[in-house]
Amino acid sequence: MLKNNDKLTVIHIDMDAFFAAVEQQADPSLRGKPVIVCGDPGGRGVVSTASYEARKFGVRSAMPVREARRLCPHAILVRGRHSLYEEISRRLLSLYSKYTPVVEPFSIDEAFLDVSGCERLHGDAIQIAGKIKTEIRESFGLTCSMGIAPSKLLAKMASDMQKPDGLTVIRYEDVEDVIWPLPVRKLYGVGEKTAQILEALGISTVGALAKTPVELLVEKLGEAGRLLRNLASGIDNSRVNPSLWEMPKSIGHETTLAEDSDDEGFILSCILYLSQQVGRRLRQHGLVARTVTLKLRYSDFTTLTRANTFSFFTSLDEDIYQTAKRLFLHHWNRRRRIRLVGVTVSNLSSKDDFMHQLALFEEDEKRRRATDAMDKVRDKFGEDAITRASLIQRGKRAKNGRAGRTEGGYTV
Ligand SMILES: [Mg+2]
Repeated sequence: MLKNNDKLTVIHIDMDAFFAAVEQQADPSLRGKPVIVCGDPGGRGVVSTASYEARKFGVRSAMPVREARRLCPHAILVRGRHSLYEEISRRLLSLYSKYTPVVEPFSIDEAFLDVSGCERLHGDAIQIAGKIKTEIRESFGLTCSMGIAPSKLLAKMASDMQKPDGLTVIRYEDVEDVIWPLPVRKLYGVGEKTAQILEALGISTVGALAKTPVELLVEKLGEAGRLLRNLASGIDNSRVNPSLWEMPKSIGHETTLAEDSDDEGFILSCILYLSQQVGRRLRQHGLVARTVTLKLRYSDFTTLTRANTFSFFTSLDEDIYQTAKRLFLHHWNRRRRIRLVGVTVSNLSSKDDFMHQLALFEEDEKRRRATDAMDKVRDKFGEDAITRASLIQRGKRAKNGRAGRTEGGYTV
């Protein structure tokens, strides 16, 4: 086990029931009540965040709203306001950056801080964490849970141990006592698929994983097996990466059709093409994404955008396309002709981050290899060297002058 540097340098901050807490803060009449934030309070969507008062009734994120209402009939349903949460997330990041320049946003409500070298100004990691906690409470009226550890992995696992409003320290010497007894699916990076493989091998705790011969894990899980075994032993050399702060917020392509269209097959082939362009740009930047947004503009210029968020990160064309396609088939008003379509991905992260690498291992390995192979051919022979069968139709139409301009864009 890595014990050479047991200094507490990393703080992981995870806001408690973030969206619901922001809503309760904004509207005092919601405080102390079960609040459920969702996309559409009247509709069929899923729960985005439940306040702790609602969680007592068993309401959880990603649960259908209908089921949440059954569990907690007196819950107050609130339509999520993403731009507000993003704004507060940005303000939280700038609060953290007063204490250390090395801040890595991990999601809209989580961040890693490396506070090594900040002692003289602000005290040790535990003191800094306490100051930040107080400041978040005083300036935002919000609580968070913090993990403090010598590595990102342990800090991330620590912040999950006492929620809400927790502050947990894990050192390497605690790994056997604190991390090893946990169920293996509690280890960061072990998703549903990996957990099933491990459990079939009789590996049910993190400790059992740490003691499994690495050859067996590599045989069953590929290189992810080696990485996970290291993590189970508390080994994680990844650094807090502040540059992730500056990466694009989204990557998108859109195209104006040469002629307004209500031809479903044609529009789907445009969506496929745009999805491939977006996927390719994601991979060129070494990024992965969780959210896919479809934009449709009708011939009268009214515009519709609809988004869907995965529970995992992906950079695969297929995931982007299938999601955009579902959104299209679900939301397109078939009586209206379409003038423009766009596909955008957001909620981006670096695929080099070990935590996201592990999320990627949950992907279908075969599809990823196929995508890599297609990228290599495109690198060599140009963008149009490979098109999937349904794109051929688009090619034919393009020759007939029906395909339009394609524009790519980043927003930061
Ligand atoms: Mg949170």
